[in-house]
Amino acid sequence: MTDRPIAIMWFRNDLRLADNPALRAATQWARENDGVVLPLFILDPVISDQLGGATRWWLEKSLTVLDRAISELGDVSANMPKNTALRLFVGKSSDILDTIIESQPVGALFWNRLYDKPSITRDTEIKAAMMDRSLTCESFKAQLLFEPWEVKTGGGTDFKVFSPFWRACQKNPPPRAPFMAPETITLCDQDIKGQVDLRTLDLSPKPFDWAVGLSERFTPGEKGAMDQLFDFIDDRLQDYADLRDRPDHRVTSELSPHLRFGEISPFQVWHTANHFADANPGKGKTASKFISELGWREFAHHILFHAEDLRTQPLQDKFSSFAWSDAPDDLAAWQRGQTGFPIVDAGMRELWHTGYMHNRVRMIVGSILVKHLLIHWRDGLAWFDDTLVDACPANNPFSWQWIGGCGADAAPYFRIFNPVLQGEKFDPKGEYVRQWVPELRDMPDQYIHKPWEASPLILKAADVTLGKSYPDPLIGLKEGRERALAAYQDMKKAA
Ligand code: FAD
Repeated sequence: MTDRPIAIMWFRNDLRLADNPALRAATQWARENDGVVLPLFILDPVISDQLGGATRWWLEKSLTVLDRAISELGDVSANMPKNTALRLFVGKSSDILDTIIESQPVGALFWNRLYDKPSITRDTEIKAAMMDRSLTCESFKAQLLFEPWEVKTGGGTDFKVFSPFWRACQKNPPPRAPFMAPETITLCDQDIKGQVDLRTLDLSPKPFDWAVGLSERFTPGEKGAMDQLFDFIDDRLQDYADLRDRPDHRVTSELSPHLRFGEISPFQVWHTANHFADANPGKGKTASKFISELGWREFAHHILFHAEDLRTQPLQDKFSSFAWSDAPDDLAAWQRGQTGFPIVDAGMRELWHTGYMHNRVRMIVGSILVKHLLIHWRDGLAWFDDTLVDACPANNPFSWQWIGGCGADAAPYFRIFNPVLQGEKFDPKGEYVRQWVPELRDMPDQYIHKPWEASPLILKAADVTLGKSYPDPLIGLKEGRERALAAYQDMKKAA
């Protein structure tokens, strides 16, 4: 047992050293108390329940990077055990923390706050237990610019509509400036009972390494996040407002998985984008469009915090009786990118290959599933939870409820995306489709989004045999639309 008092830094969705208020507090506490810092991560059931295949892959990489970064900052004594700087545990957080507190001279525990109900319940219990022991326990705002209780309507309630929510946020004092990583951390050098190695967390892809495409597209970790931010600011933010809906241009930041795991903070992103606006007169519009997307992330967390159960319960009650269809073959075709709608199949294949899909395409594939195919939004949510690297307890259910028309400030159910018109508008030359659906590579632009309208001669010239080399559409667009509208009317009558 060490005789120096220990400050535990409990990392969760804040896998970074810079702009990390809990880490800063832990290092400061250790300095003031001649103590040491014990950085740890616990794969507890609350966290495991929120992970799918792609996010497990990301987490494993991110923990590796964080461990290395802590070692580099760590002021460790020569007898540092061969285990890592970032201590890893599996199990119930309260049990693990209890064991550490009983066996080590722990004086304080620090973390950054989360906003989903299971995390809040867990954290509240742990904080109470720390207080009972008269130990220091502090939590911080780090994952959101505006915490859910900081933004209220004039009537003192929570918001249900984005625009007034974002206006209210902007009336708050501006987000604080981000701060630097600690220059050094005096690390605890004791072996801690129950500590495991990264392999024991069992996060790697199984049964084979299907994540090659994910690692080609993304570099998990704090440095990867900062590089991504600066590349975006230098090269793409200037075109963001004009081209953000174009999957063929890839101008968006692709920061979502980094924000999901807190490898970068929204404060860092907000201030960097504002700095760009200040330094580039005339580019304020594009910067504020980008910042308002961060606002949607804030709004999704606001809704998550106030909802009973965003993953399972429609925010609009009337949708509880909606007659979803049970169509496992259609669901499987959608998941595999075999619907016969080129932009949908391109998106679903991009997702499978890279763990990411462009926002506009997420909306199109979501609409086809929930409306034309009448499949429950929870099935789409589950697939995205498993395959997206940015799958997040707030943004994912929030967005699926938005698509399903049953969420907060949602697209009205009767507004049904037409994948052909969407494709022609946002991927006019079919470049995105050609990239992900190579069997349509030689289709002329005019038919790339609707190969079923091409003549046999054109199909032959493009080497496409519908129903063989590329599927026939799962449903006629008009028929699917009418069926969806009828189901909506039935639900309204029943409500
Ligand atoms: P940018 O356009 O560069 O935006 C910057 C950041 O703002 C994003 O990284 C993200 O954190 C936030 N953001 C942008 N758009 C939205 C939005 N509509 N709602 C909430 N936050 C937003 N986003 C996730 O982070 N995780 C999810 O699991 C997720 N699931 C989605 C499911 C569906 C059906 C839909 C339609 C959207 C979903 N989104 C989700 C929102 C959005 O598609 C992604 O945040 C965005 O595509 C990420 O790309 P980007 O980082 O390049 O975004």
